Amino acid sequence: MSETLSHWINGQSVAGGSGRTGNVFNPAIGEKIAEVPFASVDEVARAVAAAKAASPEWASTPAIRRARMIFKFKELIEANMNEFAQIVTREHGKVLSDAMGSITRGLEVVEFACGIPHLLKGEFSEAVGTGVDSYSMRQPLGVVAGITPFNFPAMVPMWMFPISLACGNTFILKPSEKDPSAANYMAELLKEAGCPKGVFNVVHGDKIAVDAVLEHPDIAAISFVGSTPIAEYIYATGCSHGKRVQALGGAKNHAIVLPDADLDMTSDALVSAAYGSAGERCMAVSVAVAVGDKAGDALIESLKPKIEQIKVGPGTDADSEMGPLVSKVHLDKVRGYVDHGVSEGANLVMDGRDLKLQGYENGYFIGPCLFDHVTPEMKIYKEEIFGPVLSVVRAPDYDAAVKMVNDHEFGNGTAIFTRDGDAARDFASQAEIGMVGVNVPIPVPVAYHSFGGWKRSLFGDHNMHGMEGVRFSTKMKTITARWPTGIRSGVDLSFPMMG
Ligand code: NAD
Repeated sequence: MSETLSHWINGQSVAGGSGRTGNVFNPAIGEKIAEVPFASVDEVARAVAAAKAASPEWASTPAIRRARMIFKFKELIEANMNEFAQIVTREHGKVLSDAMGSITRGLEVVEFACGIPHLLKGEFSEAVGTGVDSYSMRQPLGVVAGITPFNFPAMVPMWMFPISLACGNTFILKPSEKDPSAANYMAELLKEAGCPKGVFNVVHGDKIAVDAVLEHPDIAAISFVGSTPIAEYIYATGCSHGKRVQALGGAKNHAIVLPDADLDMTSDALVSAAYGSAGERCMAVSVAVAVGDKAGDALIESLKPKIEQIKVGPGTDADSEMGPLVSKVHLDKVRGYVDHGVSEGANLVMDGRDLKLQGYENGYFIGPCLFDHVTPEMKIYKEEIFGPVLSVVRAPDYDAAVKMVNDHEFGNGTAIFTRDGDAARDFASQAEIGMVGVNVPIPVPVAYHSFGGWKRSLFGDHNMHGMEGVRFSTKMKTITARWPTGIRSGVDLSFPMMG
């Protein structure tokens, strides 16, 4: 039976009133399971008004009390982990262990946000002049919005709102319309944790809701994660409306495999990083650059048996390692890329296009695909596929491999597999990429470091979470104070000097 979802405004569920809705599917069975309301401009304005009204009191609540609420939220998520993971799997399709892993990575940001009293500490300089002290403080921005993609319906919102709320902002989340229930679930847990009305709101919707967020004068800042064309649009439009914007986009993450790499460990890492979550990760490895033809042949031979063993199935089945793609449209798109790769002349070593699972014939499944002899001119190399498709490219030497990484338009993540410390160190320095792994395939930084790509993988000046998240969520104020006891004053029109 299909459920009707609601927005979450001012601490309660609010039924959609625009008359526009979207369908939410269970990708394992290809059936509609819910209907999500698409917010109108007025409904977004209602959420903004609630967030704005809640803002002064929340901003002046001592940081330690805000941290206590966030801590309670963390405990509630831990206590409800299984139910939460089921919600993610039901609408996204990823296997339960992966859903739990991603929720746990989101929770790490919640844990980081619990330390907010320490993180907000400013600087103090005594006696910058005679009788003059100077100090700085970080204050909240006001109402902040987050717009998030389908692939991490729990983790990516948790990159954003825990730090934003801990810093004293109020928040409006516009989650992906493909898997919207995780956002409502988090809203309910926040309420249970003691989050005051209006401090956290969820509006569902499509471009109309997003544009309303971009244009609303009472929203101070926007965090966005999604595809590059939309990220670029969000950045340009948000900035033109005077907002602070961080907009994270797509990726094509290369892993360089040097001839001296531990081949078994490398192929284990590549299979995990390319096919985990069916490749629907912005940090998935989608290109393996084998340095030297021999290394390329050996890599393919090492990858094949491991890929053959991947168990594809519904995310709720404990044996499944890889679930379906999120939607029929996305399945067709990924299949189309594989067809295109074949017609472009790449060698399709493993073909998962015709995978059919008994009992799940209508699910959006595709098996793992492996291409060899992919070249940089090919569409399957240039574009983000966002599916379980790994392309092996051959590079004649290390310099050519690094050039490929640096010439690609995306710059999210990359990795090098080698035993050569010199090469690894050089690569870490030379790669024009935001996140670099050395023998680590998915170098997603931990919560107290910051996440973000370079080039067309991130628009804006701030990365997500860690201290960058605190900086994004606050504005700095610096106070210079004179206590004039015993100081002679007088008019002086020259440029003020302290010392
Ligand atoms: P998407 O860009 O289609 O959607 C992201 C958000 O933007 C959603 O909330 C959606 O409703 C909204 N949106 C979509 N079209 C819009 C439009 N025309 N105008 C305004 N808003 C619009 O992305 P997706 O398909 O949900 O997610 C997959 C993409 O996200 C991939 O490209 C992936 O690499 C990227 N991603 C990046 C990161 C990162 O950290 N860099 C993390 C996760 C996902």
